[in-house]
Amino acid sequence: MLAKRIPTILPKLSFEESLEVTKIHSIAGNLEENTPLVIERPFRSPHHTISKSSLIGGGKIPKPGEVSLAHNGVLFLDELPEFNKEVLEVLRGPLEDRKVTLSRVLTTITYPCNFMLVVSMNPCMCGYYGSDKPCKCSMESIRRYRGKISGPMLDRIDVQVEVNSVKYEKLNSKKNEETSEEIRKRVNETRKIQQERYRKYNIFSNAELTPQLVEKYCKINEESKKILENAFEKLGLSARAYGRILKLARTIADMDKQEDIQKNHLLEAISYRNLDKKYWN
Ligand SMILES: [Zn+2]
Repeated sequence: MLAKRIPTILPKLSFEESLEVTKIHSIAGNLEENTPLVIERPFRSPHHTISKSSLIGGGKIPKPGEVSLAHNGVLFLDELPEFNKEVLEVLRGPLEDRKVTLSRVLTTITYPCNFMLVVSMNPCMCGYYGSDKPCKCSMESIRRYRGKISGPMLDRIDVQVEVNSVKYEKLNSKKNEETSEEIRKRVNETRKIQQERYRKYNIFSNAELTPQLVEKYCKINEESKKILENAFEKLGLSARAYGRILKLARTIADMDKQEDIQKNHLLEAISYRNLDKKYWN
């Protein structure tokens, strides 16, 4: 299945990342002749009709799937509830392990799949629930629609943001808005801080920290620990969410160019978790 290719303004690949991406795309037979190196960060957006094996990889001689083609880049699933629920569930392992092992009778192949998952969905089938236009959906249909996304799946989404429809006047006013180019610069600087910090571990970003490294690099003070504990009780978060919130707080602190994770960084990271409780409980 061919994913859309869009001009990307994602942060640049480092040389090491570029080598990894090139290897995978070469095995998949995706490279045009004489491409020495893939230099653009991958952005994959497979259609919602995608099969399990196209998503995570497969075939007689196992080929990398979309998760591996998105390695070191972004896997974007538009209209998440439209995807087959079983197909979505196979994403859980790769999201956790950052690699996929495909076993066949004669061979076993492991491909890396360290991707950033980005998804979008409407609040309901008609799209108007919670907006100023009337929603035509029954509670039962809303429940069914959201039910396609399981709790464990949602638990792996660190930044959950509700976006209201944009009014026409707002679309036209471009005052004080940061441009994509400015944002990209900020993201590049933050990634650089992380690359330097983790150079000796062969990882590139906070997202890849193991539990041991989270303990080492995502320390918070006693006051912040109390805040986090309270949030866990109130939001009913899972143990997995704990490490994920700390990693996100580390990234927010890095964007703020701070050595230590401060209270406001942690609070911001927690605030991106409230969607699942708002709609899924
Ligand atoms: Zn609706």
